[in-house]
Amino acid sequence: MRLYRSFFLLIFFSSCYTSTQIGMTGAVVDLSSSKVGDEKKARPRNVVLMIGDGMGLNQLSAAMYSTTEPLAMERIKTIGIHKSHSADDLITDSAAGATAFASGVKTNNSYLGLDAAGKKHTSLLRQAGSQGIKTGLVVSSTIVHATPAAFFAYNTNRNAYDSIAADLPDARVDFIVGGGKKYFDRRKDDTLNLITRMREQGYFVTDYFEQDYASWAVPDVPRVAFFTADGDPLPAVNGRDYLPKASADALNFLSRRARKGFFLMIEGSQIDWGGHANDAGYVISEMIDFDRAVRAVLDFAERDGNTLVVITGDHDAGGLTINGGKQGDLVCQFSTVKHTGGCIPVYAYGPGAETFSGIYDNTQIYHKLKKLLLN
Ligand code: MG
Ligand code: ZN
Repeated sequence: MRLYRSFFLLIFFSSCYTSTQIGMTGAVVDLSSSKVGDEKKARPRNVVLMIGDGMGLNQLSAAMYSTTEPLAMERIKTIGIHKSHSADDLITDSAAGATAFASGVKTNNSYLGLDAAGKKHTSLLRQAGSQGIKTGLVVSSTIVHATPAAFFAYNTNRNAYDSIAADLPDARVDFIVGGGKKYFDRRKDDTLNLITRMREQGYFVTDYFEQDYASWAVPDVPRVAFFTADGDPLPAVNGRDYLPKASADALNFLSRRARKGFFLMIEGSQIDWGGHANDAGYVISEMIDFDRAVRAVLDFAERDGNTLVVITGDHDAGGLTINGGKQGDLVCQFSTVKHTGGCIPVYAYGPGAETFSGIYDNTQIYHKLKKLLLN
């Protein structure tokens, strides 16, 4: 695709070359800004994948109609749609949904990093890491919850948190922020201390008990992990506010160390939990928190110019419908306490964004990102 585009531009360039002086001058200026003949420039150096768990179009609508200021997500012009279903169900769960994004395979609900036959697939994050690309995971759930877990773990059971945690140290993620400390240092399955193992691997590990994330200055070390809770982090309405700062910290940390670019996954994990609880206020407050993280990422990407940002959800949760009310005071209804099977929007900004327009399977997000980011 990139080759084709460069070829087309070269043809265009040569035909302009024979036209009048004025036309040629204009064409030269335009084409140089289109990066003619340099396919590398159409590719991003860095990729940030942002996943709003349970974020369909109605969750976005509810957030937009609940604020007076536009959401940061409204700055994005390139939009696509993905088919969210899993291998064994029209209605995906977050494990199969995130495995599609992370490894490009449709799998069964509850599977992480495995295809439907149980075969392991190395995630984009792990592949990036082994090419010397810096990597990060920032989430508002535990770090072993299905969405982040699909980027580093292999398991048929998304609830096997101890076993999922044991897969994290070897994935060598450079920047980690999320909850779930107890699955690392007070395990039920065994007496391993995975935090000790991470420190042996060069990690600086700290947690919410030692300091508030809000006042934490990220140390100048090769790898960091900050545990924001022992189990699940709080909902945003109860005071959790680290996601936007952790997103900005991750961008700073990774970009300063990235000689070959970085891959960062940021999840607004609890939009989904608001959907399961059929609590519109919970959904909206988590959407707004996630959008603050989006703002930090888009601000960075605009300054940087070499960062592709892809924002999507894995599925809708709750079947949220806006059934009336007015701006700031919506009447929301839910059709289920589970997920629904609708298609989900994809928002893309930065070099390579145009490849995300159209309608495609959720697995294509992996394939498109891989083509753009990896050698
Ligand atoms: Mg999730
Ligand atoms: Zn869910």
